[in-house]
Amino acid sequence: MGDVPETHPRYASLMARKRLTEAAAAGMLAESALIAHGRGEAFDYLLGEATCEAARKAIVEVAARLEAAEKAVISVNGNTVALAGPQMLACAAILDCPVEVNIYYRTPERMEALLSALELQREEAVALYPTLAQEIAKVPILGAEPDGRIPNLDGPRAKCHSDGILGADVVLVPLEDGDRCGALIEMGKTVCVIDLNPLSRTAITASVTIVDELTRCAPLLLNELIDGAKDSDVEWNNEENLREVVTVMLGILD
Ligand code: ATP
Ligand code: MG
Repeated sequence: MGDVPETHPRYASLMARKRLTEAAAAGMLAESALIAHGRGEAFDYLLGEATCEAARKAIVEVAARLEAAEKAVISVNGNTVALAGPQMLACAAILDCPVEVNIYYRTPERMEALLSALELQREEAVALYPTLAQEIAKVPILGAEPDGRIPNLDGPRAKCHSDGILGADVVLVPLEDGDRCGALIEMGKTVCVIDLNPLSRTAITASVTIVDELTRCAPLLLNELIDGAKDSDVEWNNEENLREVVTVMLGILD
């Protein structure tokens, strides 16, 4: 894949696939992870593989809510670490909040692989954002020793840290699952998600949904946080934003 020129029309997509297949080989992903990515790619085609205006508005709102949080947390799964781990560490550095690994198919091996990948990604994050070096070094990476559970959620994915997901009032979860998103909302949290499918249970259930590709919007979110976010919009209408995205998707051939 190293021989794909940057001018290739599918460059970003091919690079994302490369990162994911390498992460899979390194034991970071469940078998279904590549299928999940593929479904996302299909929706991205309908967006013309570009960040739409509705997504830009959602990015601004997510940044505002994260900055206004009393205790924020960024909850990451295998695909998120593989695709945007350094960017998530940089966002956490600005927000002075932890990154917590929480995965659907939790095994000790995968947890270990993801926690050590994130530790290594600190260096990548510092290389990308040198002005944040000190803060990046201090970002707590949680997930190894969960001491709490998300209520009304089955299985090991409910396990979480009291100083991370359990105690947070605002959670950013790129690539969330519908059930877990619902369970977090029921706990009264503000849940901000990144999901290419505007029709997924996650997209519909979340407080604010960024319908965009993770690697494309993560740097935009980071920039918004660096710039210092605006006030949160108390009238934010997530359903309306999703409708706007669907309109963009339906108009792709216009
Ligand atoms: P839900 O559980 O919310 O009803 P689902 O079960 O259909 O949704 P999952 O299998 O939990 O979906 O996750 C896959 C979804 O994640 C994809 O359909 C896509 O919307 C989203 N996704 C995958 N890769 C990316 C990516 N790189 N950027 C943004 N979203 C992505
Ligand atoms: Mg799901």
